[in-house]
Amino acid sequence: MTRSTRRSIVLGVLLVCGGAITLARSQAPGAAAQGRGADGAPVIQVDRLKDNLFVLRGGGGNTAVFVGSDGVTVVDTKIPGWGQPLLAKIRELTDKPVVRIINSHTHYDHVGGNVDFPTTVDVVAHANTKVNMERGLPPKGAESRVPPDVFKANGGRNIAKRTFQDRMTIGRGAERIDLYYFGRGHTDGDAWTVFPELRVMHAGDIFSGKLVPLLDSTNGGSGIEIPDTLAKAAALEGVDAIITGHSTVMTPADLREYSEFNRDFLNYVREAKKAGRTVEDAATRYTFPAKYTGYRAPQPDSIKNNIEVIYAELK
Ligand SMILES: [Zn+2]
Repeated sequence: MTRSTRRSIVLGVLLVCGGAITLARSQAPGAAAQGRGADGAPVIQVDRLKDNLFVLRGGGGNTAVFVGSDGVTVVDTKIPGWGQPLLAKIRELTDKPVVRIINSHTHYDHVGGNVDFPTTVDVVAHANTKVNMERGLPPKGAESRVPPDVFKANGGRNIAKRTFQDRMTIGRGAERIDLYYFGRGHTDGDAWTVFPELRVMHAGDIFSGKLVPLLDSTNGGSGIEIPDTLAKAAALEGVDAIITGHSTVMTPADLREYSEFNRDFLNYVREAKKAGRTVEDAATRYTFPAKYTGYRAPQPDSIKNNIEVIYAELK
């Protein structure tokens, strides 16, 4: 991979998932801000959330690393090319082997490293995410900004092997992991991973932070369903901290607020459609309600894209 290819892929990450921009802005300017050191080598930052739970940042979506007695569970594997650096970083944290990957959804910046893991590793995802992985279609509104499909380029290596519909439990006791599906939103296969003993949840991009979401209708995303999906997840008991797709660790109260933000946005779009406004006009007129402090659009066209998706759903 040439340096310019790398740069365009890194840029793609920034453009696809707005949360990455928050991350980049919070770091020093320059190459390191994009997850690479001055020599171009991948830089993965480790935050220890609990004794046996880490958040690994850089190179795409936030990865959760959960160390159990039988091995390591990895939630999301970053952009293509970052699987090996991720494995190397995990080896610095524990001697135990990686036994499973959980993918929060199908996007390349969360599954890209899958192909670098041994094929003996179990790969768990929602049933719709497996279908989306097999199709390999780029996210709606970001078609020109994503790299070629990583699974197609690797003969389908480490596409999801085990799937669930509404709920799945893995392991037991202090090492139990609960997976939930609460409905469509960012895609139609957004898995919520809970570590009940630690009271921590990994949300993936369906909870991207205080950001206008990417509604990837190509992969089943829905602007009509996302408020309810988020509200169901926020109502789940026994969670204190939520690892977002790209932003900081947040709380269930933040998630409730995010649900309301999306509900208010949906209501705005419904009214605009009723009033006969074009997508362009509705987008130009939109202003962020004052009560949602710190919220913003990750891309100049985020609002317009989402109005377009919701208009199509309302037909
Ligand atoms: Zn995503």
